[in-house]
Amino acid sequence: MKKHESDAKTVLNRLGKLTGFLQNLDAHASKDDSFNFPLEIIQKTMMFDVSVLYKVSNVIENRLILEVIKTLDPKGLRLDLKEGRKLRLFLDNRDKRFVNEVMAFLNKQTSCINVSGMGCDIMGYVYLPESFGGAYLFGGDFCGKESSIKDYEVAGIDIMCNFLSAILLKTRFEHQAEYDNLTGLYNSGKIKQEVKTILKRFERKPALSACIAMGDIDFFKKVNDNYGHIQGDLVLKKVGDILSSSMRGVFDVAGRYGGEEFLLIFDETNERAAFQVVERLRKNIEKIKFEQADKTGKIIKNKFLKITMSFGISKLYKGAGVKNAIDWISRADNALYESKQNGRNQTIVFKETKS
Ligand code: GH3
Ligand code: MG
Ligand code: MG
Repeated sequence: MKKHESDAKTVLNRLGKLTGFLQNLDAHASKDDSFNFPLEIIQKTMMFDVSVLYKVSNVIENRLILEVIKTLDPKGLRLDLKEGRKLRLFLDNRDKRFVNEVMAFLNKQTSCINVSGMGCDIMGYVYLPESFGGAYLFGGDFCGKESSIKDYEVAGIDIMCNFLSAILLKTRFEHQAEYDNLTGLYNSGKIKQEVKTILKRFERKPALSACIAMGDIDFFKKVNDNYGHIQGDLVLKKVGDILSSSMRGVFDVAGRYGGEEFLLIFDETNERAAFQVVERLRKNIEKIKFEQADKTGKIIKNKFLKITMSFGISKLYKGAGVKNAIDWISRADNALYESKQNGRNQTIVFKETKS
């Protein structure tokens, strides 16, 4: 086989492996899980001694600040690239060891300048907008080897970076479309869609019942008024965490329906069971000491505040006459309203008023 044929085969082989890795990226993986793959990809496809992933943390004046997110260094050759370490690189006075990091950042493309005596390395640039967490750099090092990197290897890293930024953008867009930024729960569009799915199934299989519960924080406006909006956000976030950790085992899904309103779905659950679970949750929330923050968001030591929540439950059953998702949700909302009228910090199950 001629040299260029074997090079071409190597490229195809590596790109094939790369595609395989990328296809395994889970659309719902948490932000940082999705980065465990790129390092494996480059390590395995390029056969580096050391691979590294940096987050572009900041640029202050002429200094680029990179945070080492992950390093694969099976032989322990680059102990200076410990995970969590922050590198401060001058953009003008270039440190020979990190020349490719700086160049990849400045040109927003793969760089593989070979510095004699430093071995050879390559660094790629993964574009992500600031609102999605900002850019990353990743690449690797052939420690001690002086042979230069081949064009097809640069092209391979370029493709990887572009591919990866496209996939990360797509997964984060998908995530943004369905999840609430502050609480990490489903947003109102997605939770309504979940309610619709249950209603559809109910039309086909009316034997399988379900309940929904609408919860609302009591006197939440006072939290904002007395402690500031940042404190309000912290409380919402904490309530989101409590609901997230109760999901699956306790109920099925939870979403942020509105400002301080949350909708819970209990699939294949009767009213009594849903009521018990909601009551447990309510009593749990009543006991929690929420951390207090000052107006700048800084947590104040040993200062806490408490909140309560009111709930309304509505069950789907044959003859309930629920017309659509909004109709079902408004029944839970009516029961919630009754809880508020009744003095708050309680749970009421919706009852059809016979007229
Ligand atoms: P009630 O017990 O009747 O529910 O009283 P409440 O004060 O909780 O209800 P109200 O509807 O009067 O006020 C809700 C407040 O929630 C007003 C709004 O500023 C606040 N809010 C809504 N969304 C957010 C948010 O994302 N962050 C913060 N900090 N506050 C929010
Ligand atoms: Mg409220
Ligand atoms: Mg409200």
